[in-house]
Amino acid sequence: MTSRNLSLTEAHDLALSCLIKNGCDDDNARACADRMIEAEGDRCHSHGLFRLPWYVSGVKSGRVNGHARPRLDRLAPAVIRVDGDNGYAPLGQRVAHQPLVDLTRENGIGALAFTNMYHIAAIWPEVEALAREGLCAIAVTAAYPYVAPAGGIKALFGTNPMGFAWPRKDAPPLVFDQASSSMARGEIQIAARDGHMVPETAGIGPKGEATTDPNVVLAGAQLGFGGYKGASLAMMIELLAGPLIGEFLSLESLADDGGRGGPPKGGELIIALEPARFGDADGFLAHGEILFRELLAQPGTRLPGARRFQNRAETPKTGINIPASLYDEIIGLLA
Ligand code: NDP
Repeated sequence: MTSRNLSLTEAHDLALSCLIKNGCDDDNARACADRMIEAEGDRCHSHGLFRLPWYVSGVKSGRVNGHARPRLDRLAPAVIRVDGDNGYAPLGQRVAHQPLVDLTRENGIGALAFTNMYHIAAIWPEVEALAREGLCAIAVTAAYPYVAPAGGIKALFGTNPMGFAWPRKDAPPLVFDQASSSMARGEIQIAARDGHMVPETAGIGPKGEATTDPNVVLAGAQLGFGGYKGASLAMMIELLAGPLIGEFLSLESLADDGGRGGPPKGGELIIALEPARFGDADGFLAHGEILFRELLAQPGTRLPGARRFQNRAETPKTGINIPASLYDEIIGLLA
């Protein structure tokens, strides 16, 4: 597969102009481009430029509002909601960050519900940004049904990721962000595009048959990680990012798409905690470090997030590589 090397600035310019050319205003395009290039910069390609043609198709079809103006409401002393006005998630997420920080500092705990927005992507940016403010954060989101319940063969749950971040002194926050499926959907799509096989744990074919062919998994159903345990986490996330906040279940989001194959509409729940208000204001940071020290003392370990932070340090110098076919597709969208 031939690839094309781009600096992060070139990649950002490309994403920004492509979104503006295809119907987004500057605020919406910039928020989406920032998020995509943030993902590329961490070499999280499944949430980078790979998504750009899909984003463009959502706006061009008229389904996604490229001129969205997210609206924030306070629902309870420690609960806010951001209505995304039918736009892509990144602008709403940007608008919500500081109000959530303020709310959490005021109450010790703050919850934020995102509704009425399209494609909540990787969720480490939200939780990492909160941990950089000294808060601890948990985020969950649901999307289209791709994962079969334990014992079943028909997709019911989204690949429903959960993100967690913990602040550290003099070090980047501890951040993990993982799907409740055995593999992220985007990774399976990339394997199909690039002609690679996937592990047998990734999913099953339409009749429940075992397979390592990503195309067969895409036609069948993905599997939760760790069998029924991952499936139960996916179910919990469906409830928290759906019914709890008045948003779609994954299967409702797919029905809303009506077979067009566009980006999913759905919700996200973030819970932020102010550690200084939980009883050990002076000690919690040093106490957490004991755990990290002990973990890292074991050969073969690393902290979640460390790979991304390493990539983030490298990509401003190396640039990023994207498939030449994707580059050509984006240039086509600019024409
Ligand atoms: P991975 O399995 O690649 O990684 C999950 C987490 O585990 C990361 O935080 C990773 O850190 C950490 N990790 C990996 N290897 C190790 C290790 N050896 N030791 C310690 N920690 C480790 O992620 P997924 O494939 O599950 O998800 C990829 C992305 O896709 C996520 O950002 C997720 O939010 C997103 N996604 C979004 C969905 C949506 O509907 N919006 C649905 C599903 C997934 P590191 O990054 O440093 O490797």
